[in-house]
Amino acid sequence: MTDRYAVIGNPISHSKSPQIHQMFAEQTGQDISYEKIEAPLDGFAETIERLRNDGYKGCSVTVPFKFEAFKLANSVSESVIDTFDSGENADAVNTLDFRNLKIVGYNTDGSGLLKDITINRQFNISKKRVLLLGAGGAAYGVLHPLLNEEPKELVITNRTLEKAQRIEKKIRGTAKFPVTSVSWSSYSDLSKKQFDLVINATSAGLTDSELPLPPTIFAPNALAYDMMYGRETPFMKFARDHGAQVADGLGMLVEQAAEAFYLWRGVQPDTAPVIAALRLT
Ligand code: NDP
Repeated sequence: MTDRYAVIGNPISHSKSPQIHQMFAEQTGQDISYEKIEAPLDGFAETIERLRNDGYKGCSVTVPFKFEAFKLANSVSESVIDTFDSGENADAVNTLDFRNLKIVGYNTDGSGLLKDITINRQFNISKKRVLLLGAGGAAYGVLHPLLNEEPKELVITNRTLEKAQRIEKKIRGTAKFPVTSVSWSSYSDLSKKQFDLVINATSAGLTDSELPLPPTIFAPNALAYDMMYGRETPFMKFARDHGAQVADGLGMLVEQAAEAFYLWRGVQPDTAPVIAALRLT
């Protein structure tokens, strides 16, 4: 019998996840279906309940429901950084597993990003200076795997400074390297620094908004990684114009999906041909 999965978001029409999971299923001979479902903004929990009642085995969760998915899960894996014990109950989950009558939450965004950077792009993060732009669900997802890479330092900046400060507070005790948050508007603070890896985890690219970054921010051979995919964002253009290597988030998208597929099916798909196929579409 075909096992059913879905991606839940709002909006969701743009999602490439069904294509990706279909390619994984064909490649590995798994009998699954995977569809897009738009949940009402105030109806995420009801949508999940319906899927469980209808016998779905799990789902992916995307904007804006990742924090709600965390709250809904009966338990979360170590990849969701509740181990930092912030007491805020505010972490992000992008994958739910409904087997065994429970809802188990995972976050595969961060490990997907790290695989794309360290394996697909052969960029070593250890002892590197990292700047994280943004403090939403995607930024949260990256923290746990990023900490394991032990960069030299991590600086977090966000349009709403309090959210960056919350992340700093959350991970400072766990990180074995300096972690600081700086104000979006403290251009002068950032202009004194250079970074080897700049990760754009904001959704500024969706509205073609520029980010207030000094042009000197990129160290020689720096990698500028934008989690957005599908088109060049102002951040990507800015980074390219100022000497950085540039990557979009397509590899991350496929890698995080592969991790979810493995969690659900116990089979690791080959991501390279899927990334290549999506680049052509
Ligand atoms: P959230 O809505 O949770 O967070 C959005 C973040 O972007 C916040 O930090 C917000 O700042 C910031 N932001 C939004 N608009 C602007 C702007 N105009 N200027 C500056 N900052 C802005 O979204 P997510 O964290 O879930 O997603 C962020 C991005 O990452 C999206 O583009 C998404 O598509 C992408 N993504 C890609 C994935 C992939 O697999 N490639 C996976 C997950 C996400 P503030 O706190 O001030 O509101």
